[in-house]
Amino acid sequence: MGKRKSSKRAPAGRVKKVLDTQFDCVSCFHEKSINCKLDYDQKVGHLQCRMCGVAYTCAINYLSHAVDVYHDWIDACEAVNASAKAAKSAALDRDRDSSRRDRDRRDRDDDDEGSSSRRRKPYDLDDRYDDEDDD
Ligand SMILES: [Zn+2]
Repeated sequence: MGKRKSSKRAPAGRVKKVLDTQFDCVSCFHEKSINCKLDYDQKVGHLQCRMCGVAYTCAINYLSHAVDVYHDWIDACEAVNASAKAAKSAALDRDRDSSRRDRDRRDRDDDDEGSSSRRRKPYDLDDRYDDEDDD
């Protein structure tokens, strides 16, 4: 799903201990605002948006690249959206439980409601890129 053959970017050269790479933010849509760091010592990848502050951390290995962390993050965002959607429709289905669940969810959603609802858009953009980037 996330496979893209479009990157014509030259390989970033030899793998250093810590790679810094910048990507577009799928949360606030700023370009190159995601700063991605790979810590091969700790085997963790970090990314953070300097515009909206969204952050993500995942496990990496010595083969991982910044773009892997970035795609991992996108996948995670999509998973969150999917499960949130599933939870929502499940709550709608089960009317009895929903009142309690819903209140619970609403409490937690307060923090990141704005960003989570906007996270899906870049996917459409990405897909379009795939098609046009072919030639
Ligand atoms: Zn951002």
